[in-house]
Amino acid sequence: MAHSHDRGVRFDTQVIHAGQHLEPVTGAVMPPIFTSSTYAQESPGRHTGFEYSRSHNPTRYALERMVARLEGSAIEEKTDPSCGGFAFASGLAAIGTCLELLDAGDHMIAMDDLYGGTNRLFSRVRERSQGLKVSYIDLTRADRVAQAMTPKTKLVWVETPTNPTLKLADLGAIAKAARAVNPRVLLGCDNTFASPYNQRPLEHGFDIVMHSSTKYLGGHSDVVGGLLATGDPDLAQRLRFLQNAVGAVMGPFDAYLTLRGVKTLAVRMERHNESALRIARFLAEHPLVDAVIYPFLESHPQHDLAKRQMRGGGGMISMHVRGGLDDSRRFLERLRIFALAESLGGVESLAEHPAIMTHASVPADQRATLGISDTFVRLSVGIEDADDLIDDLDRALRG
Ligand SMILES: *Cc1c(COP(=O)(O)O)cnc(C)c1O
Repeated sequence: MAHSHDRGVRFDTQVIHAGQHLEPVTGAVMPPIFTSSTYAQESPGRHTGFEYSRSHNPTRYALERMVARLEGSAIEEKTDPSCGGFAFASGLAAIGTCLELLDAGDHMIAMDDLYGGTNRLFSRVRERSQGLKVSYIDLTRADRVAQAMTPKTKLVWVETPTNPTLKLADLGAIAKAARAVNPRVLLGCDNTFASPYNQRPLEHGFDIVMHSSTKYLGGHSDVVGGLLATGDPDLAQRLRFLQNAVGAVMGPFDAYLTLRGVKTLAVRMERHNESALRIARFLAEHPLVDAVIYPFLESHPQHDLAKRQMRGGGGMISMHVRGGLDDSRRFLERLRIFALAESLGGVESLAEHPAIMTHASVPADQRATLGISDTFVRLSVGIEDADDLIDDLDRALRG
């Protein structure tokens, strides 16, 4: 009773059907939430393939197969029950499990402009507990990856676009440069900001894609989760072992909610892309805005790469408000439709002040180097009517 809409159909069809099966007993078109922690066996060791829910859960599998397919994994279900997709309790739990692929003392290269929590996991936990050596490199220039590699380099970890300065990394060029030094080095990309609708790192030669599904995949700011996807069957086997051995799995309710969110990913991303581009153009012309950063604006320093690598610019915009800290603070206080809140990727629009909020843990000198000043504001453009969002921003800027 499998749907046959896994591959060979367009993305907007995949987000509804990929990796999904009708439920065999009732024919239910949506996967039931399997809450059982265990499954009865016919005879010791003779079972349906389901033993214990940390290891095997049909609701979680349905989400995992979906995301694996959206990221372009071609692994068959008979090779791996979730086709190379793995769901975790949070985005950071997904990254943490990925780091278990490395041995104590290994070296890794990370983009210098990372999500704050990822930076904290690398620098304040795993450098201590696992003895990892991490080089933080500006990978907007792909040739820097080869310069930074050593014989102990096991993993290159990239985010693109970065948070919050929306810098881009050229995935294909990084893969080529890194593989020229060591064909076996692991390449991982945090694809949270772009979502698979806009960018698919496996197609550029990366091994692992990671998502905080708390953001665009879930899409409704009502569930925390993380995902990994790979198209390499051996790597899938190692990740399957680690997902079960470490145990930071996503629960069935969260898997159901996230899958429900994913079904509308294509229509939501289409609107996020369209509205954010319109709003970025509006802000770029605004007299009370000093600068706007958005990958699909011609003024973005990597606009050509954005057009090559991404289907749309995404829903995130960063900007410098004219004036000082008081001006950016008043602007954020005056917004009525945009909620002043951390996080991103939901249907509702959010605005935040990285220097005070999401990136307060980044040392001030590093913030200055990255361009996160007191007038720097980050917007997550939701799917409300773009004209209302523009009115809201304009009113809040003018005061
Ligand atoms: C939110 C986020 C994470 C962390 O995910 P959680 O689900 O909050 O653990 C990682 N990377 C990026 C880019 C994020 O935005």
